[in-house]
Amino acid sequence: MGDVGRIDDMTYIGHTLTGLAIGAAVLPGGLSRRRMLLGMAVFALLADVPDFPLRGWGHDRYDISHSIFVNGGIIAVVLLGLWILGKWKGLRVPLGVRVGGVCAWFSHMLLDSMYNHGLGIRIYWPVSSESLVLPVPWFSTLEYSPPPMNAHTARVFAIELACYLPLLLVVLIVRHGLILRARRKVRP
Ligand SMILES: [Zn+2]
Repeated sequence: MGDVGRIDDMTYIGHTLTGLAIGAAVLPGGLSRRRMLLGMAVFALLADVPDFPLRGWGHDRYDISHSIFVNGGIIAVVLLGLWILGKWKGLRVPLGVRVGGVCAWFSHMLLDSMYNHGLGIRIYWPVSSESLVLPVPWFSTLEYSPPPMNAHTARVFAIELACYLPLLLVVLIVRHGLILRARRKVRP
């Protein structure tokens, strides 16, 4: 059973920014603005899937929702669905985007293991009750959900923003540079 009511993982800020950074790295350069925004939204959501506030999932059952085996099974079903859609409706999702999507999804467990409480996150359910523990000194957890708007919450949010926003900005800048370079090459 998970630690009901206890918040032991990264907030939506860290996960969402990481998902956006991975999306910006793998989404094709020629997408329309609308498709790019849609793709980025999907990547932001993928990085947050294990925390979705559903019954028997998310903070309700950390062991299930953060298990690499459970999530791997769901991912396999999603990939199979995309494959079927590709055959049936001609929907093509490039390999790089699919790989990036899987990375965004699994990035969740990695980030959750980085809190400084040192408890890590149990990701091997139901095979083992061991935890993945990769504590980083400056990442603190929120204590309650929803978090009270106090100095501690503001500090947690600010640190995640300061750590993950630069990652997204760097990827966006590199992406923009690569797109510009490709366009210059195409021009006669
Ligand atoms: Zn989580």
